[in-house]
Amino acid sequence: MKFKPANRIQDLQYFGEFGGVNPSISDSATYTFLSAKTMLDTFEGHAEGCYLYSRHTSPSNLYLGEALAAMEGTETAHVAGSGMGAITATLLHFCGAGDHIVSSRTIYGGTYAFLKNFTPRFNVNTDFVDITKLDLVEAAINENTKVIYCESVSNPLLEVADIKELAKLAKKHGIKLLVDNTFSPMSISPIELGADVVLHSLTKFINGTNDTMGGVVCGSQELINSMRSVIDGSAMLLGPAMDSMRAASILKNMRTLHIRMKQHSKNATYLAERFENLGLKTVYPGLVSHPSHEIFKSMMNEEYGFGGMLTIDVGSLDKANELMELMQHENLGYLAVSLGFYKTLFSAPGTSTSSEIPEDEQEEMGLTDGLIRFSIGLDNDIERTFQVMVACMQKLNILEKETVTV
Ligand SMILES: *Cc1c(COP(=O)(O)O)cnc(C)c1O
Repeated sequence: MKFKPANRIQDLQYFGEFGGVNPSISDSATYTFLSAKTMLDTFEGHAEGCYLYSRHTSPSNLYLGEALAAMEGTETAHVAGSGMGAITATLLHFCGAGDHIVSSRTIYGGTYAFLKNFTPRFNVNTDFVDITKLDLVEAAINENTKVIYCESVSNPLLEVADIKELAKLAKKHGIKLLVDNTFSPMSISPIELGADVVLHSLTKFINGTNDTMGGVVCGSQELINSMRSVIDGSAMLLGPAMDSMRAASILKNMRTLHIRMKQHSKNATYLAERFENLGLKTVYPGLVSHPSHEIFKSMMNEEYGFGGMLTIDVGSLDKANELMELMQHENLGYLAVSLGFYKTLFSAPGTSTSSEIPEDEQEEMGLTDGLIRFSIGLDNDIERTFQVMVACMQKLNILEKETVTV
């Protein structure tokens, strides 16, 4: 039977402490024990259903984790205060001194900087490869490799990882495949395709209102228990904890995620097709011209589309900056990093979210100066949006004045 992420969220049923349809929020950092013996058992991980201290878990965080695990089809999940909190704790769970990681070279700037500049301090070293070339991925694996790391749809170049084939490679070498699915929640279900662990920044599409940060690691009960261990668990000891109030609010936003993803995808598809037809250099996984279009299609849960992210190359950084300022002035969206908001967000990745990547490496991976990354909003009238965007581009001579757009 086909995997249905939205049904799995829909089917969660809650009876709050006082019969509320939303679970009660656990507004406590610490928890009482009626018997001292139970406290010891809880510390040792033997007291099911008892809470200890909110860095470990809280009822609200467990509810949110349960919904995310349902969406991704894992046994359980652990939520963190940010995406980076979840990603770094997970990587440090799997790797210690002497271990090696094979990572996609086009990943979120923060994750890249962590693997490139931070983990080498602990003798955890990473080879960055073109994740779309499976032979290069395999060639980079050595006897110390513990993890293949990638994003299902990469930031900011929208390269698509062939998760099924990468999972086969990981199995063959007895290592784990970790997938950051932030760009494609619901559209792609990495566990179904063979991945071992799924990570998200909840800050983006999943929460969708840009009012908080959050992260999650979805995986087996064994993984999460061990990350939460009070003795040596990376999540417990590094402490990237989420606050219960925020967990409760993200859980509520998750209930409309399926509707939002469809609208983000619909709008992004509309704009990508029309901009490509006008001759603009447009990258969107839903376009037949996208090098990984077929791979995305083969992996996707079709009804959610190809996601809300697209890029347009307008030739130079100056033009990109001018266009972004004008589009903000015309109220088409905000000149801001991040993604998954109701309004369109745009930024030039080379000078913002990917500025951690040295210039020569940016060039090698095709991250050009004139590239603008768009997170397309939930606009109800996307044709109107398109017309105003075209007018902005005409004004700046990115498109010719006589461009016909009807
Ligand atoms: C934003 C982002 C992250 C980091 O998440 P934060 O919530 O900002 O810590 C990781 N991966 C991807 C793909 C992202 O877009």
